[in-house]
Amino acid sequence: MLKGKTAVITGSNSGIGLGVAKALAAEGANVVINSFTDRREDHELAEKIASEHGVTAKYVKADMSVDAECRGLIEEAAKIGPVQILVNNAGIQHVAKVEDFPAEKWHQIIAINLSSAFFTTAAAVPGMKKAGWGRIINIASAHGLTASPYKSAYVSAKHGVVGLTKTVALELAETAITCNAICPGYVKTPLVEGQIDDQMKTHNMDRETVIREVMLERQPTKQFVKIEDIGAMAVFLCSDAAAQITGTPLSIDGGWTAL
Ligand code: NAD
Repeated sequence: MLKGKTAVITGSNSGIGLGVAKALAAEGANVVINSFTDRREDHELAEKIASEHGVTAKYVKADMSVDAECRGLIEEAAKIGPVQILVNNAGIQHVAKVEDFPAEKWHQIIAINLSSAFFTTAAAVPGMKKAGWGRIINIASAHGLTASPYKSAYVSAKHGVVGLTKTVALELAETAITCNAICPGYVKTPLVEGQIDDQMKTHNMDRETVIREVMLERQPTKQFVKIEDIGAMAVFLCSDAAAQITGTPLSIDGGWTAL
């Protein structure tokens, strides 16, 4: 379905980003995976995707907290072919009371979780317009639609991502370029898996109780979202069937935002 199209997925050497990259490659897209780390393993991830799916896959180092590197990532990716699919996924978290929230963490979260999506989008849109087709998919969060205490920067950034999504969608409404946000609840990534073990120790609870009562307290289905579910939604948003879906936050959150 996506043969010959080039996709950039920011923050894609693990978790959701890597899952989305694999899902797009499975549909034939050439993929650029990214992080700021530039380790041997990062390049090997791209090599594995290329050999498994018979596509071009490349690892590009770029720090999504630096404006120029966000633009540089798109320019580097465009050497494969015009970037027609952009998935803004890079994100970090920090938890603290608003009065204790370190200024440095606030700036870092706003830069990586929100501003990077602005800079990559601005850099990619001219090429999408020229190519006559594009898909911008922003990985927001249930926290783009609702809040939790102690996550002021993350919630602000994710609400900002939803606002950016709507604005870009309206600006591009008469082109064949759509812009949407995916808003996951708790997804079972390696990071979340590690948190379960920590919470078991902290609360002196068994695994199942920690999952139900601590981790998934706000997720009515009491089940984690799977990484593959996010990948499948990204693929759907790239399909012709999704051509009229634009400016929309799409929840995959086990009923969290229905509460
Ligand atoms: P993760 O830690 O596995 O992935 C984060 C990715 O961002 C990594 O690939 C990391 O290398 C990259 N990254 C971090 N800082 C970067 C920087 N400065 N420059 C470039 N890349 C950078 O976590 P994840 O759970 O897969 O999260 C991916 C996205 O999904 C994030 O935006 C997160 O907010 C969002 N999300 C996650 C969940 C969840 O439950 N896991 C729920 C809702 C939304």
